[in-house]
Amino acid sequence: MSHDEFPTDHPAVVTCGLPYANGDLHVGHLRTYVGGDALARSLRKLGQETAFVSGSDMHGTPVAVNAWEEGVSPEEFALRHHEKYQETFPKFDIEFDNYGHTREETNVELTQAFVRELDEGGHIYEQEIEVAWDPEADQPLPDRYVEGTCPYCGEHARGDECDEGCGRHLEPGEIEDPTSVVTGNPAEYRTREHEFLRLSDFQDYLGEFIDRLEGTANARNQPREWIEGELQDWCITRDLDWGIEYPGKEELVLYVWVDAPVEYVSSTKAYSERVGQEEFDWEEPWQEEGELVHVIGRDIIQHHTVFWPSMLRGVDYNEPRAVLASGFVNLDGKGFSTSRNRAVWVDDYLEEGFDPDLYRYYIATGSGFQQDIDFSWERFAERVNGELVGTVGNFLYRSLLFAHRNYDGTPDADVSAEVEDRIEDAIEDFRAGVNDYSVRAVGQSAVKLAQFGNEYIQGHEPWNLDDPERADVIRDCVQIAKAVVVLSEPIMPGTAERLWDQLDESGSVHEVGVGAALDAPSETFDAPEEPFKGIDDDRVAELNKRLEAQIAAASGDADADGDGSTDEEAGEASEGSAIEPLADDRIGFEAFGELDVRVGEVEHAEGIEGADDLARLEVDLGVETRQIVAGIKQLHDLDALPGTRVVVLANIEKAELFGVESNGMVLAAGEDADLLTTHADSPPGTKIR
Ligand SMILES: [Zn+2]
Repeated sequence: MSHDEFPTDHPAVVTCGLPYANGDLHVGHLRTYVGGDALARSLRKLGQETAFVSGSDMHGTPVAVNAWEEGVSPEEFALRHHEKYQETFPKFDIEFDNYGHTREETNVELTQAFVRELDEGGHIYEQEIEVAWDPEADQPLPDRYVEGTCPYCGEHARGDECDEGCGRHLEPGEIEDPTSVVTGNPAEYRTREHEFLRLSDFQDYLGEFIDRLEGTANARNQPREWIEGELQDWCITRDLDWGIEYPGKEELVLYVWVDAPVEYVSSTKAYSERVGQEEFDWEEPWQEEGELVHVIGRDIIQHHTVFWPSMLRGVDYNEPRAVLASGFVNLDGKGFSTSRNRAVWVDDYLEEGFDPDLYRYYIATGSGFQQDIDFSWERFAERVNGELVGTVGNFLYRSLLFAHRNYDGTPDADVSAEVEDRIEDAIEDFRAGVNDYSVRAVGQSAVKLAQFGNEYIQGHEPWNLDDPERADVIRDCVQIAKAVVVLSEPIMPGTAERLWDQLDESGSVHEVGVGAALDAPSETFDAPEEPFKGIDDDRVAELNKRLEAQIAAASGDADADGDGSTDEEAGEASEGSAIEPLADDRIGFEAFGELDVRVGEVEHAEGIEGADDLARLEVDLGVETRQIVAGIKQLHDLDALPGTRVVVLANIEKAELFGVESNGMVLAAGEDADLLTTHADSPPGTKIR
């Protein structure tokens, strides 16, 4: 079964993974929320009825452990963070239709109803298991109360997940060499009775589900191994007094991953109740027909592609249509670390006076959603100055200023067919981006159109023309400007709204569909302001200095952990991947000129037998097709490579690898062999200078 393209006739629900109500937010945390918000806005622009919901995850041991360390009740601790999140998201224009939390009555009742129904359906059974126990504190040690070694990969693991190693969910009792977080003592095991969801009941179903699932490829590929292997049953209760009570057993609470995703439903329900069922009927997408799209971090793929769809199936709800799992955000090539204060905090970013849209743009369009992305103040400034100030801002400002000065707004002329076609293409790119679940492609549809606008105004030189030719060109430019504003709204909603007002358009740019890009602009508008401010080198140096000082101040205080969130550990795991310093030795231009670097197009790609990572490529270099050996076998889907534009060093000496002659070198970045390509469509053979 394949899904209908967006927009469909049924309502969509876009959800974002619930943040643990557990610590301050840094800019890395915002990735999934910006992505979710941009996707929800894009869907609406296409005319797709959409609810965008999330909430805080109040339960679970990360909250309980941190509250205990701070000496406050988990309730007080979690509520404080929940309120803070609720306040912070809108500052980045992340506008949920409903943002609740998992302890609200609706969610407690709905979660218990889910569990009862799963039980009645025969999917839950009781079993005695060994759980970690602290003999000194005389208490059970669920999840984050215990640390030890992952039985699958041998890495250090905390409680219910191997967050520094293989990323697996760990069942109670699985962790090896357990140590109590409460006393630091080695933990013992005690026998306790717990409730299990029989996942094997859903094994066949999950195998089909994963084939239908849309979204990012990692969300399909990662769980396949678990689904196709032996699916272990899932312990859904904990010995803990913080959580939602297991129906009929007051000594047990539900595992946090039972009630957390149910909040997606509860939050949609709360939205329906607020706006009225006739405005948005939550039952339609969840129980009848609709499009459920989950936007999450890649560390919780298993929960959203194995546990959650099984629960939904067991209670006869709809299944997710798509799961988008984002890569991590690194800082200067290393992981964010909240405990080392190695982070750009959301509050600090705002206090610096930066427009939230600059970061939204950076994070949404800097890489594909499932790839990791690096944040550095240098790169941030570079992209703001180049793409936003230099391309988008430059075009909007110069064309609107020219229009205002000479025509007091939009000149009285018709849009040319060329420009109309180009805008229609941009709308098509936008639409394709949404259907591809690529917020990056959505953003690029607007930026590329602005790029075209710059070329258009430059090519026609209206300042050297007289009316009516001059009016024709400027009329086209105002139309392009309006289209750029409409198409950039999902990524930069605040800026788009300001520009919309500046163009003296009525209503709000948030309310209009993509078609508005082709509607006639207002006849008159005021002098424009420059939409983006550049960031100079001194400012970057100052920001870096502040960040270094902040990290230095925190060192020596490294265990002041205020956050159990997973980005940190994932980051620490990649801390070895620091960026190499730039080379000091300069080369002359002549030396560079000796390199014959060309655009190529992969025509064929296959693995080389016996070589772990070598692939044999046939690459079209315009004048001839070369056979090139590249160490990319395990890093790329070779079947997907034909048609890909690459960058080739054509005059490197020939080499023979595993008996295969390599006649050229394909350029790639970093350990992951991220293949270099070109920004526009230079044909194979084009020389790179
Ligand atoms: Zn592991």
